[in-house]
Amino acid sequence: MRHVIVVGAGFGGLATAIRLAAHGYRVTVFEALDRPGGRAGALTLGPYRFDTGPTLLTLPSLLDALCRLAGTRLQDELELVRLSPYYRILFGDGRAFEYWGDPERDEEEIARFDPRAVPAYRSFMRATQRIYKRAFGELAAQPFDRLGTFLGVLPELLRLEAHRSVYRFVSRYFHDPYLRMVFSFHPLFIGGNPLRASAIYSIVPYLERLEGVYFARGGMQAVVGLLVRLLERLGSSVRFGTPVRELVVSDRRVTGVVLDDGERVVGDAVIVNGDVATTVTELLPASARPRWLVHWIARARYSMSCYILYGGFSRRFEQLRHHTIVMPSDYESHIRELFDGDGTLSELAFYLHAPTRTDPDFAPPGHESLYVLVPVPHLGRGGDWSPGARDRFRERVLHTLEYLHGLDGLTGALETWSEWTPLDFRDRLRSYHGAAFSFEPTLLQSAYFRPHNRSGIPGLYFVGAGTHPGAGIPGVLLSAAVTAQAVVEDVPLAHARTMHVPHTAASERRLP
Ligand SMILES: Cc1cc2nc3c(=O)[nH]c(=O)nc-3n(C[C@H](O)[C@H](O)[C@H](O)COP(=O)(O)OP(=O)(O)OC[C@H]3O[C@@H](n4cnc5c(N)ncnc54)[C@H](O)[C@@H]3O)c2cc1C
Repeated sequence: MRHVIVVGAGFGGLATAIRLAAHGYRVTVFEALDRPGGRAGALTLGPYRFDTGPTLLTLPSLLDALCRLAGTRLQDELELVRLSPYYRILFGDGRAFEYWGDPERDEEEIARFDPRAVPAYRSFMRATQRIYKRAFGELAAQPFDRLGTFLGVLPELLRLEAHRSVYRFVSRYFHDPYLRMVFSFHPLFIGGNPLRASAIYSIVPYLERLEGVYFARGGMQAVVGLLVRLLERLGSSVRFGTPVRELVVSDRRVTGVVLDDGERVVGDAVIVNGDVATTVTELLPASARPRWLVHWIARARYSMSCYILYGGFSRRFEQLRHHTIVMPSDYESHIRELFDGDGTLSELAFYLHAPTRTDPDFAPPGHESLYVLVPVPHLGRGGDWSPGARDRFRERVLHTLEYLHGLDGLTGALETWSEWTPLDFRDRLRSYHGAAFSFEPTLLQSAYFRPHNRSGIPGLYFVGAGTHPGAGIPGVLLSAAVTAQAVVEDVPLAHARTMHVPHTAASERRLP
Protein backbone atom coordinates (compact mmCIF):
# COMPACT_ATOMS: atom_id res chain seq x y z
CA MET A 1 0.00 0.00 0.00
CA ARG A 2 1.26 3.47 -0.85
CA HIS A 3 1.61 5.93 2.01
CA VAL A 4 0.83 9.61 1.46
CA ILE A 5 1.72 12.29 4.02
CA VAL A 6 -0.37 15.45 4.18
CA VAL A 7 1.08 18.41 6.10
CA GLY A 8 -1.78 20.58 7.37
CA ALA A 9 -5.47 19.99 8.01
CA GLY A 10 -6.93 23.08 6.37
CA PHE A 11 -9.72 22.65 3.82
CA GLY A 12 -7.11 21.82 1.17
CA GLY A 13 -5.27 19.20 3.21
CA LEU A 14 -8.44 17.51 4.46
CA ALA A 15 -10.03 17.38 1.01
CA THR A 16 -6.89 15.90 -0.58
CA ALA A 17 -6.64 13.34 2.20
CA ILE A 18 -10.30 12.36 1.67
CA ARG A 19 -9.80 11.96 -2.08
CA LEU A 20 -6.67 9.83 -1.71
CA ALA A 21 -8.05 7.72 1.15
CA ALA A 22 -11.13 7.06 -1.00
CA HIS A 23 -8.82 5.95 -3.78
CA GLY A 24 -7.13 3.39 -1.53
CA TYR A 25 -4.00 5.19 -0.29
CA ARG A 26 -2.88 5.04 3.31
CA VAL A 27 -2.99 8.70 4.34
CA THR A 28 -1.49 10.37 7.41
CA VAL A 29 -2.30 14.02 8.11
CA PHE A 30 -0.04 16.04 10.44
CA GLU A 31 -1.48 19.28 11.78
CA ALA A 32 0.54 21.74 13.84
CA LEU A 33 -2.51 23.16 15.64
CA ASP A 34 -4.62 21.23 18.10
CA ARG A 35 -7.68 21.48 15.84
CA PRO A 36 -8.58 21.08 12.15
CA GLY A 37 -9.61 23.78 9.67
CA GLY A 38 -6.54 26.03 9.44
CA ARG A 39 -7.92 29.49 8.74
CA ALA A 40 -11.38 28.12 9.49
CA GLY A 41 -11.19 28.25 13.29
CA ALA A 42 -13.77 28.81 15.99
CA LEU A 43 -13.80 30.79 19.22
CA THR A 44 -16.03 30.88 22.29
CA LEU A 45 -16.01 33.89 24.63
CA GLY A 46 -18.41 33.21 27.50
CA PRO A 47 -21.87 32.89 25.92
CA TYR A 48 -20.66 34.20 22.52
CA ARG A 49 -19.52 31.98 19.65
CA PHE A 50 -17.58 32.94 16.56
CA ASP A 51 -16.23 31.51 13.35
CA THR A 52 -12.76 33.07 13.22
CA GLY A 53 -12.01 32.78 9.49
CA PRO A 54 -14.22 31.96 6.51
CA THR A 55 -17.94 32.54 6.95
CA LEU A 56 -19.47 32.53 3.45
CA LEU A 57 -20.12 29.13 1.97
CA THR A 58 -20.50 29.01 -1.81
CA LEU A 59 -20.53 26.14 -4.33
CA PRO A 60 -21.64 23.48 -1.83
CA SER A 61 -21.56 20.95 -4.70
CA LEU A 62 -17.79 20.78 -4.17
CA LEU A 63 -18.41 19.51 -0.63
CA ASP A 64 -21.06 17.13 -1.89
CA ALA A 65 -18.46 15.59 -4.22
CA LEU A 66 -16.33 14.77 -1.15
CA CYS A 67 -19.32 13.34 0.71
CA ARG A 68 -20.03 11.02 -2.20
CA LEU A 69 -16.48 9.68 -2.07
CA ALA A 70 -17.21 8.60 1.49
CA GLY A 71 -20.56 7.11 0.57
CA THR A 72 -22.83 9.84 1.88
CA ARG A 73 -24.55 13.04 0.72
CA LEU A 74 -24.08 16.61 1.88
CA GLN A 75 -27.79 17.02 2.59
CA ASP A 76 -27.63 14.08 5.02
CA GLU A 77 -24.63 15.52 6.88
CA LEU A 78 -25.12 19.28 7.22
CA GLU A 79 -27.99 21.70 7.53
CA LEU A 80 -27.30 24.46 5.03
CA VAL A 81 -29.34 27.66 5.19
CA ARG A 82 -29.51 29.65 1.95
CA LEU A 83 -29.15 33.31 2.92
CA SER A 84 -31.55 35.98 1.73
CA PRO A 85 -30.24 38.55 1.11
CA TYR A 86 -26.74 37.24 0.50
CA TYR A 87 -25.33 40.45 1.93
CA ARG A 88 -25.92 44.14 2.47
CA ILE A 89 -23.41 46.63 1.11
CA LEU A 90 -23.20 49.98 2.91
CA PHE A 91 -21.56 52.98 1.26
CA GLY A 92 -19.73 55.88 2.89
CA ASP A 93 -22.69 58.26 2.36
CA GLY A 94 -25.19 55.99 4.13
CA ARG A 95 -26.76 54.44 1.00
CA ALA A 96 -27.17 50.67 1.01
CA PHE A 97 -27.38 47.98 -1.68
CA GLU A 98 -29.24 44.81 -0.75
CA TYR A 99 -27.71 41.92 -2.67
CA TRP A 100 -30.31 39.16 -2.95
CA GLY A 101 -28.82 36.81 -5.52
CA ASP A 102 -32.29 36.74 -7.03
CA PRO A 103 -32.57 38.28 -10.51
CA GLU A 104 -35.80 40.20 -10.00
CA ARG A 105 -34.89 41.70 -6.66
CA ASP A 106 -31.32 42.44 -7.75
CA GLU A 107 -32.60 44.25 -10.82
CA GLU A 108 -34.89 46.35 -8.62
CA GLU A 109 -31.90 47.27 -6.46
CA ILE A 110 -29.77 48.07 -9.50
CA ALA A 111 -32.55 50.26 -10.93
CA ARG A 112 -32.60 52.30 -7.69
CA PHE A 113 -29.01 53.27 -8.42
CA ASP A 114 -29.11 53.47 -12.23
CA PRO A 115 -32.15 52.28 -14.25
CA ARG A 116 -30.04 52.05 -17.43
CA ALA A 117 -27.82 49.48 -15.74
CA VAL A 118 -30.47 46.73 -15.69
CA PRO A 119 -29.86 45.50 -19.27
CA ALA A 120 -26.12 45.92 -18.66
CA TYR A 121 -26.45 43.67 -15.61
CA ARG A 122 -28.07 40.96 -17.74
CA SER A 123 -25.23 41.18 -20.28
CA PHE A 124 -22.70 41.09 -17.44
CA MET A 125 -24.24 37.90 -16.04
CA ARG A 126 -24.22 36.27 -19.50
CA ALA A 127 -20.56 37.21 -19.99
CA THR A 128 -19.56 35.91 -16.57
CA GLN A 129 -21.50 32.70 -17.19
CA ARG A 130 -19.28 32.09 -20.24
CA ILE A 131 -16.15 32.75 -18.18
CA TYR A 132 -17.39 30.55 -15.35
CA LYS A 133 -18.10 27.57 -17.58
CA ARG A 134 -14.66 27.61 -19.13
CA ALA A 135 -12.45 29.02 -16.38
CA PHE A 136 -13.99 27.53 -13.27
CA GLY A 137 -15.70 24.48 -14.68
CA GLU A 138 -12.70 23.26 -16.69
CA LEU A 139 -9.46 25.24 -16.40
CA ALA A 140 -9.46 25.42 -12.60
CA ALA A 141 -9.70 21.63 -12.46
CA GLN A 142 -6.55 20.86 -14.43
CA PRO A 143 -2.92 21.21 -13.40
CA PHE A 144 -1.01 24.01 -15.06
CA ASP A 145 2.43 22.54 -14.52
CA ARG A 146 3.36 22.63 -18.20
CA LEU A 147 3.84 25.82 -20.14
CA GLY A 148 2.24 24.09 -23.13
CA THR A 149 -1.05 23.69 -21.24
CA PHE A 150 -1.07 27.39 -20.48
CA LEU A 151 -0.09 28.46 -24.00
CA GLY A 152 -2.81 26.16 -25.35
CA VAL A 153 -5.52 28.07 -23.49
CA LEU A 154 -3.96 31.53 -23.80
CA PRO A 155 -5.95 32.59 -26.89
CA GLU A 156 -9.12 31.62 -25.10
CA LEU A 157 -8.10 33.46 -21.93
CA LEU A 158 -7.58 36.57 -24.04
CA ARG A 159 -11.00 36.08 -25.61
CA LEU A 160 -12.44 35.86 -22.11
CA GLU A 161 -10.61 39.16 -21.39
CA ALA A 162 -8.46 37.60 -18.66
CA HIS A 163 -5.85 40.29 -19.36
CA ARG A 164 -8.23 43.02 -18.14
CA SER A 165 -8.72 43.77 -14.46
CA VAL A 166 -12.01 42.95 -12.77
CA TYR A 167 -12.62 46.65 -12.24
CA ARG A 168 -12.08 47.53 -15.92
CA PHE A 169 -14.21 44.60 -17.03
CA VAL A 170 -17.05 45.59 -14.69
CA SER A 171 -16.74 49.24 -15.66
CA ARG A 172 -17.54 48.34 -19.28
CA TYR A 173 -20.98 47.24 -18.11
CA PHE A 174 -21.68 49.67 -15.28
CA HIS A 175 -21.14 53.43 -15.22
CA ASP A 176 -22.61 54.14 -11.81
CA PRO A 177 -19.72 54.24 -9.27
CA TYR A 178 -21.75 52.38 -6.62
CA LEU A 179 -22.59 49.54 -8.99
CA ARG A 180 -18.96 49.35 -10.08
CA MET A 181 -18.07 48.69 -6.45
CA VAL A 182 -20.91 46.16 -5.99
CA PHE A 183 -19.80 44.04 -8.92
CA SER A 184 -16.03 44.41 -8.63
CA PHE A 185 -15.14 44.00 -4.96
CA HIS A 186 -15.31 40.17 -4.88
CA PRO A 187 -11.57 39.51 -5.51
CA LEU A 188 -11.04 40.99 -2.03
CA PHE A 189 -12.77 37.86 -0.68
CA ILE A 190 -9.76 35.86 -1.85
CA GLY A 191 -7.02 38.43 -1.29
CA GLY A 192 -7.16 39.94 -4.77
CA ASN A 193 -6.93 43.56 -5.83
CA PRO A 194 -9.99 44.40 -7.97
CA LEU A 195 -7.88 46.95 -9.86
CA ARG A 196 -5.48 44.26 -11.13
CA ALA A 197 -7.02 40.82 -10.49
CA SER A 198 -7.83 39.16 -13.79
CA ALA A 199 -11.38 39.59 -15.13
CA ILE A 200 -11.67 35.80 -14.66
CA TYR A 201 -12.43 36.64 -11.02
CA SER A 202 -15.54 38.60 -11.99
CA ILE A 203 -17.46 35.29 -11.99
CA VAL A 204 -18.29 35.43 -8.29
CA PRO A 205 -21.74 37.09 -8.64
CA TYR A 206 -22.56 34.43 -11.24
CA LEU A 207 -21.48 31.47 -9.15
CA GLU A 208 -23.20 32.91 -6.07
CA ARG A 209 -26.45 33.10 -8.02
CA LEU A 210 -25.93 29.65 -9.53
CA GLU A 211 -25.66 27.71 -6.29
CA GLY A 212 -26.38 30.25 -3.54
CA VAL A 213 -24.60 31.68 -0.49
CA TYR A 214 -25.05 29.50 2.57
CA PHE A 215 -24.52 29.32 6.27
CA ALA A 216 -23.99 25.87 7.75
CA ARG A 217 -25.96 25.44 10.97
CA GLY A 218 -23.25 25.44 13.66
CA GLY A 219 -21.00 27.67 11.56
CA MET A 220 -17.96 26.86 9.44
CA GLN A 221 -16.81 24.54 12.23
CA ALA A 222 -19.64 22.22 11.28
CA VAL A 223 -18.22 22.04 7.75
CA VAL A 224 -14.70 21.35 9.05
CA GLY A 225 -16.13 18.70 11.39
CA LEU A 226 -17.81 17.06 8.41
CA LEU A 227 -14.50 16.80 6.51
CA VAL A 228 -12.80 15.19 9.51
CA ARG A 229 -15.72 12.73 9.82
CA LEU A 230 -15.48 11.80 6.14
CA LEU A 231 -11.75 11.18 6.50
CA GLU A 232 -12.30 8.97 9.53
CA ARG A 233 -15.01 7.00 7.73
CA LEU A 234 -12.43 6.28 5.03
CA GLY A 235 -10.03 4.89 7.63
CA SER A 236 -7.62 7.84 8.07
CA SER A 237 -7.27 10.50 10.71
CA VAL A 238 -5.38 13.64 11.67
CA ARG A 239 -2.53 13.83 14.19
CA PHE A 240 -3.11 17.19 15.86
CA GLY A 241 -0.47 19.24 17.68
CA THR A 242 2.14 17.66 15.40
CA PRO A 243 4.10 20.29 13.46
CA VAL A 244 6.32 19.10 10.65
CA ARG A 245 9.77 20.60 11.17
CA GLU A 246 11.48 19.56 7.97
CA LEU A 247 10.94 17.81 4.66
CA VAL A 248 13.32 14.90 4.09
CA VAL A 249 15.09 15.00 0.74
CA SER A 250 17.02 12.05 -0.57
CA ASP A 251 18.43 11.81 -4.09
CA ARG A 252 16.60 15.04 -5.01
CA ARG A 253 13.27 13.50 -4.04
CA VAL A 254 11.11 14.35 -1.03
CA THR A 255 10.72 11.05 0.78
CA GLY A 256 9.18 12.00 4.10
CA VAL A 257 9.00 14.46 6.97
CA VAL A 258 10.64 15.12 10.32
CA LEU A 259 8.20 16.01 13.09
CA ASP A 260 8.92 18.55 15.79
CA ASP A 261 9.88 15.82 18.27
CA GLY A 262 12.42 14.41 15.81
CA GLU A 263 10.33 11.45 14.61
CA ARG A 264 10.90 10.64 10.91
CA VAL A 265 7.98 9.47 8.83
CA VAL A 266 8.48 8.08 5.35
CA GLY A 267 5.95 8.53 2.53
CA ASP A 268 5.62 7.84 -1.18
CA ALA A 269 4.33 11.40 -1.62
CA VAL A 270 4.30 14.45 0.66
CA ILE A 271 1.54 16.99 0.13
CA VAL A 272 1.97 20.32 1.89
CA ASN A 273 -1.16 22.29 2.72
CA GLY A 274 0.77 24.85 4.78
CA ASP A 275 1.87 28.18 3.34
CA VAL A 276 3.90 27.59 0.15
CA ALA A 277 6.40 30.41 0.73
CA THR A 278 7.06 29.30 4.33
CA THR A 279 7.41 25.68 3.23
CA VAL A 280 10.04 26.48 0.64
CA THR A 281 12.00 28.90 2.82
CA GLU A 282 11.75 27.01 6.15
CA LEU A 283 10.84 23.33 5.70
CA LEU A 284 12.89 22.41 2.63
CA PRO A 285 16.61 21.94 3.34
CA ALA A 286 18.51 24.86 1.80
CA SER A 287 20.29 22.62 -0.71
CA ALA A 288 16.97 21.36 -2.09
CA ARG A 289 15.31 24.75 -2.60
CA PRO A 290 14.89 25.47 -6.31
CA ARG A 291 16.67 28.78 -6.92
CA TRP A 292 13.99 30.05 -9.28
CA LEU A 293 11.27 29.36 -6.70
CA VAL A 294 13.17 31.11 -3.90
CA HIS A 295 13.64 34.08 -6.22
CA TRP A 296 9.97 34.00 -7.25
CA ILE A 297 8.82 33.92 -3.59
CA ALA A 298 11.03 36.90 -2.74
CA ARG A 299 9.54 38.95 -5.58
CA ALA A 300 5.95 37.73 -5.48
CA ARG A 301 3.01 39.97 -4.65
CA TYR A 302 1.18 38.83 -1.51
CA SER A 303 -2.47 39.26 -0.61
CA MET A 304 -3.48 41.72 2.05
CA SER A 305 -3.80 40.64 5.67
CA CYS A 306 -6.69 41.22 8.09
CA TYR A 307 -7.40 42.73 11.46
CA ILE A 308 -10.38 40.90 12.97
CA LEU A 309 -12.27 41.85 16.13
CA TYR A 310 -14.48 39.12 17.63
CA GLY A 311 -16.81 41.02 19.90
CA GLY A 312 -19.65 39.98 22.23
CA PHE A 313 -22.09 42.94 22.42
CA SER A 314 -24.88 43.47 24.94
CA ARG A 315 -27.31 44.62 22.23
CA ARG A 316 -28.12 43.93 18.61
CA PHE A 317 -27.50 46.24 15.67
CA GLU A 318 -30.57 45.72 13.53
CA GLN A 319 -29.16 47.45 10.45
CA LEU A 320 -26.73 44.56 10.00
CA ARG A 321 -27.56 41.53 7.89
CA HIS A 322 -25.91 38.15 8.33
CA HIS A 323 -23.14 39.52 6.06
CA THR A 324 -22.60 43.27 5.79
CA ILE A 325 -19.90 44.97 3.77
CA VAL A 326 -18.97 48.59 4.46
CA MET A 327 -17.25 50.26 1.51
CA PRO A 328 -14.69 53.03 1.85
CA SER A 329 -15.75 56.39 0.42
CA ASP A 330 -12.77 56.48 -1.96
CA TYR A 331 -12.72 52.91 -3.26
CA GLU A 332 -9.81 53.13 -5.70
CA SER A 333 -7.49 55.07 -3.38
CA HIS A 334 -8.28 52.71 -0.54
CA ILE A 335 -7.40 49.66 -2.62
CA ARG A 336 -4.15 51.25 -3.79
CA GLU A 337 -3.16 51.98 -0.19
CA LEU A 338 -4.11 48.46 0.88
CA PHE A 339 -1.99 46.68 -1.71
CA ASP A 340 0.74 49.13 -2.66
CA GLY A 341 0.98 51.63 0.21
CA ASP A 342 3.33 52.05 3.15
CA GLY A 343 1.31 49.93 5.61
CA THR A 344 -1.03 52.70 6.77
CA LEU A 345 -4.64 53.33 5.74
CA SER A 346 -6.38 56.72 5.49
CA GLU A 347 -9.81 55.11 5.78
CA LEU A 348 -11.14 51.68 6.68
CA ALA A 349 -13.41 49.20 4.95
CA PHE A 350 -15.22 46.42 6.81
CA TYR A 351 -16.80 43.03 6.47
CA LEU A 352 -19.16 42.27 9.40
CA HIS A 353 -20.45 38.82 10.28
CA ALA A 354 -23.57 38.69 12.47
CA PRO A 355 -24.39 34.95 12.59
CA THR A 356 -27.32 35.33 15.02
CA ARG A 357 -29.38 36.52 12.03
CA THR A 358 -29.46 32.85 11.00
CA ASP A 359 -28.39 30.85 14.05
CA PRO A 360 -29.53 32.23 17.45
CA ASP A 361 -27.13 29.87 19.26
CA PHE A 362 -24.20 32.21 18.56
CA ALA A 363 -25.18 34.74 21.29
CA PRO A 364 -27.71 35.13 24.12
CA PRO A 365 -31.12 36.57 23.10
CA GLY A 366 -30.89 40.29 22.31
CA HIS A 367 -27.09 40.16 22.20
CA GLU A 368 -24.75 40.21 19.23
CA SER A 369 -21.80 38.02 18.34
CA LEU A 370 -20.05 40.23 15.83
CA TYR A 371 -16.95 39.53 13.77
CA VAL A 372 -15.50 42.73 12.34
CA LEU A 373 -12.91 42.17 9.61
CA VAL A 374 -10.80 45.07 8.36
CA PRO A 375 -8.55 44.37 5.35
CA VAL A 376 -5.06 45.73 6.18
CA PRO A 377 -1.72 45.61 4.34
CA HIS A 378 0.46 42.53 4.84
CA LEU A 379 3.52 42.84 7.06
CA GLY A 380 5.91 43.12 4.12
CA ARG A 381 4.45 46.59 3.47
CA GLY A 382 4.97 47.77 7.04
CA GLY A 383 2.39 48.53 9.71
CA ASP A 384 2.72 48.66 13.48
CA TRP A 385 0.90 45.90 15.40
CA SER A 386 2.58 46.34 18.77
CA PRO A 387 0.11 46.05 21.72
CA GLY A 388 -0.34 49.84 21.94
CA ALA A 389 -0.90 50.22 18.19
CA ARG A 390 -3.35 47.33 18.23
CA ASP A 391 -5.37 48.99 21.03
CA ARG A 392 -5.48 52.24 19.05
CA PHE A 393 -6.56 50.36 15.94
CA ARG A 394 -9.40 48.67 17.85
CA GLU A 395 -10.61 52.06 19.09
CA ARG A 396 -10.46 53.42 15.54
CA VAL A 397 -12.48 50.47 14.25
CA LEU A 398 -15.19 50.90 16.90
CA HIS A 399 -15.33 54.67 16.47
CA THR A 400 -15.53 54.49 12.69
CA LEU A 401 -18.40 52.02 12.79
CA GLU A 402 -20.20 53.94 15.52
CA TYR A 403 -19.84 57.53 14.35
CA LEU A 404 -19.40 57.16 10.57
CA HIS A 405 -21.58 54.15 9.80
CA GLY A 406 -24.38 54.50 12.34
CA LEU A 407 -23.77 51.59 14.74
CA ASP A 408 -24.85 53.74 17.67
CA GLY A 409 -23.65 52.62 21.09
CA LEU A 410 -21.22 50.03 19.68
CA THR A 411 -18.29 50.86 21.94
CA GLY A 412 -20.38 50.95 25.11
CA ALA A 413 -22.05 47.62 24.29
CA LEU A 414 -18.80 45.71 23.87
CA GLU A 415 -18.74 43.14 26.71
CA THR A 416 -15.92 40.84 25.71
CA TRP A 417 -13.57 40.51 22.78
CA SER A 418 -10.62 38.85 21.20
CA GLU A 419 -8.75 39.90 18.07
CA TRP A 420 -6.38 38.79 15.33
CA THR A 421 -3.81 40.97 13.63
CA PRO A 422 -1.39 40.17 10.78
CA LEU A 423 1.00 38.92 13.47
CA ASP A 424 -1.42 36.09 14.26
CA PHE A 425 -1.55 35.08 10.61
CA ARG A 426 2.23 35.00 10.58
CA ASP A 427 2.82 33.32 13.94
CA ARG A 428 -0.17 31.01 14.35
CA LEU A 429 -0.76 30.01 10.74
CA ARG A 430 2.86 30.38 9.54
CA SER A 431 1.81 32.75 6.73
CA TYR A 432 4.59 34.53 4.90
CA HIS A 433 4.29 38.31 5.57
CA GLY A 434 1.16 37.47 7.58
CA ALA A 435 -0.79 37.46 4.30
CA ALA A 436 -4.32 36.19 4.89
CA PHE A 437 -4.79 34.63 1.43
CA SER A 438 -1.25 33.70 0.30
CA PHE A 439 -0.08 35.05 -3.09
CA GLU A 440 -2.12 37.82 -4.66
CA PRO A 441 -4.23 36.40 -7.50
CA THR A 442 -2.96 38.40 -10.47
CA LEU A 443 -2.85 36.96 -13.98
CA LEU A 444 0.93 36.62 -13.70
CA GLN A 445 0.56 34.73 -10.42
CA SER A 446 -2.18 32.37 -11.61
CA ALA A 447 -2.31 28.99 -13.36
CA TYR A 448 1.14 28.20 -14.82
CA PHE A 449 2.58 31.26 -13.05
CA ARG A 450 1.49 30.18 -9.56
CA PRO A 451 3.46 27.53 -7.61
CA HIS A 452 2.32 24.27 -9.18
CA ASN A 453 0.32 21.52 -7.50
CA ARG A 454 3.22 19.26 -8.54
CA SER A 455 5.90 21.31 -6.85
CA GLY A 456 8.62 20.52 -9.40
CA ILE A 457 10.54 18.53 -6.77
CA PRO A 458 9.70 14.82 -7.17
CA GLY A 459 7.63 13.53 -4.27
CA LEU A 460 6.48 16.99 -3.14
CA TYR A 461 3.05 18.46 -3.90
CA PHE A 462 1.23 21.60 -2.80
CA VAL A 463 -2.44 22.03 -2.06
CA GLY A 464 -4.41 25.05 -0.86
CA ALA A 465 -4.52 28.78 -1.30
CA GLY A 466 -0.90 29.16 -2.50
CA THR A 467 -1.21 26.84 -5.47
CA HIS A 468 -3.53 26.52 -8.48
CA PRO A 469 -6.31 27.63 -8.71
CA GLY A 470 -6.06 29.72 -5.52
CA ALA A 471 -7.63 30.91 -2.28
CA GLY A 472 -11.19 30.73 -1.03
CA ILE A 473 -12.88 27.49 0.00
CA PRO A 474 -14.07 26.64 -3.55
CA GLY A 475 -10.60 27.34 -5.00
CA VAL A 476 -8.89 25.31 -2.32
CA LEU A 477 -11.30 22.37 -2.75
CA LEU A 478 -10.59 22.42 -6.48
CA SER A 479 -6.85 22.50 -5.79
CA ALA A 480 -7.33 19.34 -3.70
CA ALA A 481 -8.89 17.60 -6.70
CA VAL A 482 -6.00 18.67 -8.96
CA THR A 483 -3.32 17.63 -6.45
CA ALA A 484 -4.96 14.31 -5.61
CA GLN A 485 -5.20 13.50 -9.31
CA ALA A 486 -1.49 14.32 -9.76
CA VAL A 487 -0.57 11.91 -6.95
CA VAL A 488 -2.81 9.21 -8.41
CA GLU A 489 -0.98 9.56 -11.73
CA ASP A 490 2.55 9.83 -10.31
CA VAL A 491 2.34 7.24 -7.53
CA PRO A 492 -0.13 4.70 -8.87
CA LEU A 493 -1.59 1.99 -6.73
CA ALA A 494 -1.29 -1.63 -7.76
CA HIS A 495 -4.92 -2.12 -6.82
CA ALA A 496 -6.69 1.20 -6.87
CA ARG A 497 -10.29 1.16 -5.81
CA THR A 498 -12.24 1.62 -8.98
CA MET A 499 -13.62 4.91 -7.86
CA HIS A 500 -14.24 7.86 -10.07
CA VAL A 501 -12.75 10.94 -8.42
CA PRO A 502 -14.84 13.81 -9.75
CA HIS A 503 -13.39 17.27 -9.57
CA THR A 504 -16.69 18.73 -8.69
CA ALA A 505 -20.32 17.87 -8.58
CA ALA A 506 -20.99 21.42 -9.82
CA SER A 507 -24.06 21.23 -11.93
CA GLU A 508 -24.80 22.71 -15.29
CA ARG A 509 -28.04 23.87 -13.73
CA ARG A 510 -29.69 26.88 -15.25
CA LEU A 511 -29.66 30.09 -13.31
CA PRO A 512 -32.71 30.68 -11.15
C1 LIG B 1 -10.36 36.01 7.68
C2 LIG B 1 -10.65 35.18 6.49
C3 LIG B 1 -11.94 35.09 6.01
C4 LIG B 1 -12.22 34.29 4.90
N1 LIG B 1 -13.51 34.20 4.47
C5 LIG B 1 -13.80 33.31 3.49
C6 LIG B 1 -15.15 33.04 3.18
O1 LIG B 1 -16.06 33.60 3.79
N2 LIG B 1 -15.42 32.12 2.21
C7 LIG B 1 -14.41 31.47 1.54
O2 LIG B 1 -14.70 30.64 0.66
N3 LIG B 1 -13.11 31.70 1.83
C8 LIG B 1 -12.79 32.59 2.79
N4 LIG B 1 -11.49 32.81 3.14
C9 LIG B 1 -10.43 32.10 2.43
C10 LIG B 1 -10.32 30.66 2.91
O3 LIG B 1 -10.58 30.59 4.28
C11 LIG B 1 -8.91 30.13 2.67
O4 LIG B 1 -8.48 30.40 1.35
C12 LIG B 1 -8.85 28.63 2.90
O5 LIG B 1 -9.49 28.27 4.11
C13 LIG B 1 -7.40 28.22 2.94
O6 LIG B 1 -7.34 26.84 3.14
P1 LIG B 1 -5.98 26.06 2.96
O7 LIG B 1 -6.33 24.63 2.89
O8 LIG B 1 -5.22 26.62 1.82
O9 LIG B 1 -5.06 26.34 4.21
P2 LIG B 1 -5.16 26.82 5.71
O10 LIG B 1 -6.53 27.04 6.16
O11 LIG B 1 -4.19 27.92 5.85
O12 LIG B 1 -4.60 25.53 6.48
C14 LIG B 1 -3.26 25.16 6.44
C15 LIG B 1 -3.00 24.28 7.65
O13 LIG B 1 -1.65 23.83 7.59
C16 LIG B 1 -1.14 23.82 8.91
N5 LIG B 1 0.32 23.86 8.85
C17 LIG B 1 1.08 24.84 8.32
N6 LIG B 1 2.40 24.51 8.45
C18 LIG B 1 2.44 23.31 9.07
C19 LIG B 1 3.51 22.45 9.49
N7 LIG B 1 4.80 22.77 9.28
N8 LIG B 1 3.19 21.28 10.09
C20 LIG B 1 1.88 20.91 10.29
N9 LIG B 1 0.85 21.70 9.93
C21 LIG B 1 1.12 22.88 9.32
C22 LIG B 1 -1.72 25.07 9.53
O14 LIG B 1 -1.70 25.02 10.95
C23 LIG B 1 -3.15 25.03 8.96
O15 LIG B 1 -4.02 24.30 9.80
C24 LIG B 1 -11.18 33.59 4.25
C25 LIG B 1 -9.88 33.69 4.73
C26 LIG B 1 -9.61 34.47 5.83
C27 LIG B 1 -8.21 34.54 6.34
